[in-house]
Amino acid sequence: MGYYTHFSGSISIVPPIDDAKMKPFDTDHDSYFRIEQKPGDQTVQMVNGQITVVGNNPGETIVHFGYDDSIKGYDFQDHVARLLAFVAAEGSVANGQFYADGEETDDNWRIVVENNAYGEERGEILFPSDVRSHKADAWWAAHQTMCSMDPCPTHKNPYE
Ligand SMILES: [Zn+2]
Repeated sequence: MGYYTHFSGSISIVPPIDDAKMKPFDTDHDSYFRIEQKPGDQTVQMVNGQITVVGNNPGETIVHFGYDDSIKGYDFQDHVARLLAFVAAEGSVANGQFYADGEETDDNWRIVVENNAYGEERGEILFPSDVRSHKADAWWAAHQTMCSMDPCPTHKNPYE
């Protein structure tokens, strides 16, 4: 019993934070995430006969949602908040998104992470024909402010 949500998505942490420190945030430790390390690399060039570093990509730690199945996850936001507080304390910066798809048809939301801050956003289902009909109505309303003909042989509603 309970309400299940399917989560997905990931955030990227730069510069990366090593596995030992990230351990408490993975699924083995009762957290919701799976940690992936992407190593950085350096670009070197010969400059005046010397091998010189001209590019330094620090790599990143990627935090994925850690389960394939739907979970209850009522405290998902708390896990994200704890993770982001830790990332900030380490002097790194996190960006990305986690998506949530709940059991109810219209229960779609996401957590948007921007520079260690996060916000929650609810999604809405938009059917293309409804959007088109709404735009067509708006076009006619705007048209009536400048032209009295309805139907109008001169101006064509681009949404009809
Ligand atoms: Zn007109």
